[in-house]
Amino acid sequence: MARSYVGEARRRVGPRRARIGPIVERLEQAHPDAKIALRFRSELELLVSVMLSAQTTDVNVNRVTARLFEKYRRPEDYLAVPQEELERDIYATGFFRQKAKALRGTMAMLLERFGGEVPRRVDELVQLPGVARKTANVVAAELGEPQGIVVDTHVRRLSQRLGLTRHEDPVKIERDLQRLVPRAKWGLLPHLLIWHGRRVCTARAPRCEDCVVSDLCPSSRVT
Ligand code: SF4
Repeated sequence: MARSYVGEARRRVGPRRARIGPIVERLEQAHPDAKIALRFRSELELLVSVMLSAQTTDVNVNRVTARLFEKYRRPEDYLAVPQEELERDIYATGFFRQKAKALRGTMAMLLERFGGEVPRRVDELVQLPGVARKTANVVAAELGEPQGIVVDTHVRRLSQRLGLTRHEDPVKIERDLQRLVPRAKWGLLPHLLIWHGRRVCTARAPRCEDCVVSDLCPSSRVT
């Protein structure tokens, strides 16, 4: 019964290839301010912010980095203090030991292999200690060269609700989205879905009646 209901909803809205264009367009209009919530002024600050954002909120990271970035301006600065001092300075972001170690390892590698600059390619970024694929994707996209699509909890939930994927695994969801969305939108799409997910299509109570894509969404509760 539930299955046939889902099938009927999918038929009603049509194939995802036909829906993705208007979905992206309308979300862009609804959330013109959708962008990364982390605050940074340089490529190095971007990388550090994204590394610190694991397992915590962007608001929390911004609170910590407001002071951190006054003290640590170059890769050398992270290596010039004892590890414990760096741990204290990033303590409030959680997992501070792990993160301090990753930051110091990353700074050392930036200096040794990349001339102190943040690399732009995902395959280079993932070589940095503590930089996973998701972090690398976020950094590359913000540097204007998206090479993948960031799949976080909001992107996963909205992609599923909007019928853009049937998968649970973030790697498979990313693959589905890459096939559907033009490369020029790979960097923007996650921000649109994250902001729509926070403002309208929340995990607990999606506000379908206020949603600009409700007629294109097989999960819409609007009849
Ligand atoms: S119609 Fe409802 S379920 Fe679908 S994207 Fe909008 S808020 Fe989410």
